[in-house]
Amino acid sequence: MSGQLVVAGLGPGAEDMITPEVTAALIEATDIVGYGPYVARVALRAGQRLHGSDNRVEVERASFALDLAARGRKVAVVSSGDPGVFAMASALFEALEDGPAEWRDLDIRILPGITAMLAAAARLGAPLGHDFCAINLSDNLKPWAVIEHRLRMAARGDFAMAFYNPRSRARPEGFARVLDVLREELGGERLISFARDVSKPGEHLLTLPLAEARAGMADMRTVVIVGNSMTRQVGRFVYTPRQAPGVQGAGVQGAE
Ligand code: SAH
Repeated sequence: MSGQLVVAGLGPGAEDMITPEVTAALIEATDIVGYGPYVARVALRAGQRLHGSDNRVEVERASFALDLAARGRKVAVVSSGDPGVFAMASALFEALEDGPAEWRDLDIRILPGITAMLAAAARLGAPLGHDFCAINLSDNLKPWAVIEHRLRMAARGDFAMAFYNPRSRARPEGFARVLDVLREELGGERLISFARDVSKPGEHLLTLPLAEARAGMADMRTVVIVGNSMTRQVGRFVYTPRQAPGVQGAGVQGAE
């Protein structure tokens, strides 16, 4: 099969946060497939075909892209941030698993991008400088009980946490419950940061203790970062030291 398929991450928003590898793949592509707003971020070249779609039909979109590639097209499926983080790369492999066997011989590549939590962490300082986890708070694909269990386990493990899809109009009460669970596990002093529209016009950062956090501070354009027990502020920055609580700092060389 001569077709190609890349699943490319467009980064958090700013043009200069798109990797040169992704830029080159987008120039090469004959067809760009993705959720409407992401496709709109791609500067179109003459002759390129755009296939925008709804955000909820990811596996169908992936099958459509695989089918195009099987017909010999050079297809780029685009995601925001990194395609492997709560995005299209897994949907692509689900479609591959369920699809015709010959799709597996296609030239398929996943091209990484800067995911929202890393762009946000860099803007804030270094809140993810020690062990951390990322949790998708959307309950589209998993029940609330699973979300709550993972939240409590991460809190008890003293992980810093990054939350994607924190709050939507379809489930406005979910994030308030998340904040209640976090306060119950971590107390009110723990630092929480809200990073909205990172690297886009109107970027907004807010850091405060959990006691003062309100559900309305997050929406679907916000990634939320909760520190671990060592996370603190220095000047306008938020950072997490590299060592676990109770361990002496090893110095720059020892811990690099
Ligand atoms: N694949 C994407 C995540 C898709 S889930 C990535 O790697 O970043 C969509 C969620 O990502 C949003 O609800 C929000 O929580 C987060 N997000 C994406 N872009 C963002 C940005 N520029 N600023 C803040 N959060 C962002």
